[in-house]
Amino acid sequence: MSGYCGRFAPSPSGPLHFGSVVAALGSWLAARAAAGRWLVRMEDIDPPREKPGAAAAILRTLEALGLAWDGPILYQSTRIEAYRAALARLRTDGHTFHCRCSRKNIGESPYPGTCRTLGLTAGPRTAVRVRVPDETIVLEDALQGRYAQALASAVGDFVIWRADDQPAYHLAVVVDDAWQDVTDIVRGSDLLSSTPRQILLQRLLGLPHPNYLHLPLALDHDGAKLSKQTLAAPVDGIPPAATLVAALGFLGQEPPRELARATVSEVLARALAHWTPARVPRASRIVGPID
Ligand code: GLU
Repeated sequence: MSGYCGRFAPSPSGPLHFGSVVAALGSWLAARAAAGRWLVRMEDIDPPREKPGAAAAILRTLEALGLAWDGPILYQSTRIEAYRAALARLRTDGHTFHCRCSRKNIGESPYPGTCRTLGLTAGPRTAVRVRVPDETIVLEDALQGRYAQALASAVGDFVIWRADDQPAYHLAVVVDDAWQDVTDIVRGSDLLSSTPRQILLQRLLGLPHPNYLHLPLALDHDGAKLSKQTLAAPVDGIPPAATLVAALGFLGQEPPRELARATVSEVLARALAHWTPARVPRASRIVGPID
């Protein structure tokens, strides 16, 4: 084993669709090619978006695809105390403020700073936001290249603890990536614009910065990202080897067509032996049905 540690971190809001298989396979190949560890973390801290049975269905699909993970699965719902501790640290260091704005009265982003100086205290329907410095955060993505975001004007002070008393994704993800010693994050490029927020939190919490590689997204015919919310077809009904071969093709690896008739372990062994990160395209693309 090398020091590399990757991870796949699905939210159990529905079964795996082709786009999430691409992310799982890409991070698995990158980790295994580096003789590293590959973890699965279930990001189950958003009860309103969770679907009963989705976590188990996701794990069954990963198993059917032969994407074996190392160690036990981390369920974020068991980690609330760690997120509270990180929140407490940020509060003690003066990086946060309480906010009673609702999405209705402030719209999406950037946050206009309404509650920043009001000195509100904790209470029902009160979120906690982090004060975002007026600074451009730059990251060197291993596939997408240099990505810069002026965080204050693009996003503004963002929520780290939700008004429904749940940790926000950005806080939980940085706490766990550090706690699990994740060194390399390979995920879909829909999260590229979230990464500067995560880099800021890593810095404020004194956590290491992992390497990032954001994969192209699989889009539907309307050009929208395949997502569990848009009810992209689950891959469960498709033979796993065919799904893997299609995902390899999407990742630019040019697998031979007849590979779809091989076993899952043969497909993965060949994929690993021929894994060429330089062939992975940057741009997101429309995908049709898997044949
Ligand atoms: N749980 C997030 C999702 O399913 C991904 C988190 C991540 O890879 O950082 O979109």
